[in-house]
Amino acid sequence: MAAPMAQATAAGTKEAILSAARKFVDFVNKCQSPFHVVEECRTILRAAGFSELREADQWDIKPNNKYFVTRNQSTVVAFAVGGQYKPGNGFTIVGAHTDSPCLKVKPLSNKLKSGYQCVGVECYGGGIWHTWFDRDLTVAGRVMVKNADKIEHRLVRIDRPILRVPNIAIHLMRDHNDKFGPNKETNIVPVLSTAVQAQLEGYTSAKEGEEPKCQADKHPPVLVTLLCKELGIQPQDLLDFELCLADTQPATIGGALEEFLFSPRLDNLLSSYCALQGLVESSGDNGSLTSDPNIRLIALYDNEEVGSESAQGAASMLTEHILRRLSVGDRATCFEEAIPKSFLLSADQAHAVHPNYSEKHEDNHRPMLHKGIVIKFNANQRYATTAVSTSILREVGTRANVPLQDFVVRNDSPCGSTIGPILSAKLGMKTVDIGAPQLSMHSIREMGCTSSVHQSIALYKTYFQEYPSIYNNVNVE
Ligand SMILES: [Zn+2]
Repeated sequence: MAAPMAQATAAGTKEAILSAARKFVDFVNKCQSPFHVVEECRTILRAAGFSELREADQWDIKPNNKYFVTRNQSTVVAFAVGGQYKPGNGFTIVGAHTDSPCLKVKPLSNKLKSGYQCVGVECYGGGIWHTWFDRDLTVAGRVMVKNADKIEHRLVRIDRPILRVPNIAIHLMRDHNDKFGPNKETNIVPVLSTAVQAQLEGYTSAKEGEEPKCQADKHPPVLVTLLCKELGIQPQDLLDFELCLADTQPATIGGALEEFLFSPRLDNLLSSYCALQGLVESSGDNGSLTSDPNIRLIALYDNEEVGSESAQGAASMLTEHILRRLSVGDRATCFEEAIPKSFLLSADQAHAVHPNYSEKHEDNHRPMLHKGIVIKFNANQRYATTAVSTSILREVGTRANVPLQDFVVRNDSPCGSTIGPILSAKLGMKTVDIGAPQLSMHSIREMGCTSSVHQSIALYKTYFQEYPSIYNNVNVE
């Protein structure tokens, strides 16, 4: 397998590739929910000199300055204003998403089943649900807490395995290996404890049919106690929560040659992290921000996995509102003038060819690990890529020394989609859909390659720095 690594080293040494991949792995291991993703981005952005804005405030945006704003604590938009920026100039944008398919705790989650204390969960997005069986699970997310007269958003994560969705023994289901298709309502109900152990330790559940007296009564007392202890609050102060289940096994670099990422949520934390790093690195001291006529912007949205139709999703007015606020100038049409000068790089993970299912890929379009970032095409506009946007991206790739691969699905295969077509249609902005190649997409534990992180950051950084000059040479409106 010398050839693929040789490809990877074209854009960096193995040490540089591993170093970038390790930082990404650290990031993923702190980000078990979209709320944790936004919090981690906030920490990185603040350290890089970005100031936090509130949507509800009046903004005073200045050239050469850097800002970010969040919505619902699960979507974040960060931007660096070019030194030459004037309203009506363009936006150089990378978009990605903060959410991943997962199980989420139901509003009334207290379930006693055959002497087990279980937790009712909803299936969020299109996960490969059988991969959630026999994993050591925990919960992470946000809790709304009453603090005197105030209602506060608090992050929570239990750092140990507390839940499990057990498989049924093969002895009791002889066709397990032929057609295991769990029922999402009845078979995917994680076990938290036995009822008898909970009783021994003094936990009492509301009796069946009994009305809950407070929010905490709607959930297993063992779970409520764990959360309250973690947060240092009383059960009556727990107003509500949004909790994602997550694997406790940390992401890691794997493979005999340390070339793979074995990690949850590669889709789409890899793009989110690399977009953030690309922006931070491009707007640092040597990042050419002072001579940039554009605003460099990343938008990391929640709810992509369920169609983006939410207040914090890519289908909301959020992006247009922010771009309009940044385009207020002496003419009424500054925003409309900015759109044709702008560009959206819609970044989401791509399907690498699979060694054991290679027939699922179209013969001529088989992206491989290490062979570069994938451009996604779809004539039916499931991806927003056009010949114009691809030409611009190819020029960025050349300047960044990052290889690119082409992907289109087979005509007899379903095709995923991204925030690309949604934003492209809403804003009328030139867009290219791209992403890093990976396997096991939407499994609880996915598989990618280390070189993707290094390549993505290099590509986004160069894009932020070079797009305005490339645009000036594009002769197509
Ligand atoms: Zn995705």
